[in-house]
Amino acid sequence: MVRSVNNTYNYNGNTYVRRNEKDALVGFYLASAASAVLFKLLPSFSNPFEKQMLREHANNYLYRDYFDRAVEQSGLLQKGLQVEHLAFSPQEGAALRDGFAVADAEIKAGLNACYEPKLKTIRLNKDKATITGFHELGHAVNHLSSKFGKVLQKLRVPGYVISGLMASIATFSRPKPKDAPRNALDWVLDNCTTIAVAGMLPTVAEEAMASYKGIKLAKTVGLSEPLVKNLKKFYGKALLSYAGYATVTGLAVYSMSKIMEIFTRPKKIS
Ligand SMILES: [Zn+2]
Repeated sequence: MVRSVNNTYNYNGNTYVRRNEKDALVGFYLASAASAVLFKLLPSFSNPFEKQMLREHANNYLYRDYFDRAVEQSGLLQKGLQVEHLAFSPQEGAALRDGFAVADAEIKAGLNACYEPKLKTIRLNKDKATITGFHELGHAVNHLSSKFGKVLQKLRVPGYVISGLMASIATFSRPKPKDAPRNALDWVLDNCTTIAVAGMLPTVAEEAMASYKGIKLAKTVGLSEPLVKNLKKFYGKALLSYAGYATVTGLAVYSMSKIMEIFTRPKKIS
């Protein structure tokens, strides 16, 4: 590289203009704004699930016995599986309405359920939300009876951390011309969208696997065809919220990265 006046320099037979701090700042604000707008799309992916979840409280009695049978049928009780019933608590319900949702309160209100691998425990409100139980049982099958499923579960947290990191890295300046030799950080910068999406895939895949196995167990214990159909529909919406999160993250990282490229990459002038 040959330095010259006017903030220009020559590289590989071309002349480039170095970008200034102001460009980088404008890029950063635009990138942050684009990401904020994209993340506003998230509810459109999760609303269908949440709406059906509330409607299903009235159908809880249709699923409850079949869920208990599916737990027995799974053979996982012998492997240490437990089912914890979290009953509704009015105080925590009020906290939820006031927007102070905590995981336990959500479960007690029958708005969600979870499987805790460390405790080998399915946690749900059996008075309201056993429809979620088959899916959580699917997570337990993945954890306790499937090597591949277990690996996907273990990739969940690191995957999210990596995707989150990509969202920060996407806002870095791009001080080198496009055709300059790349080092490891440049490679990460060039591929941050792909890495961010890849980080989310184990979760989406494991969620899909959990639903598939849960539905299979529901069929095994004789859940009627219309209820199985409803289960599939409901779990499809749950998967949509995970896939939506991955999509929005990918789009946000992509747009932030492109905006930062436009505002911070040296401009070729000849
Ligand atoms: Zn799940």
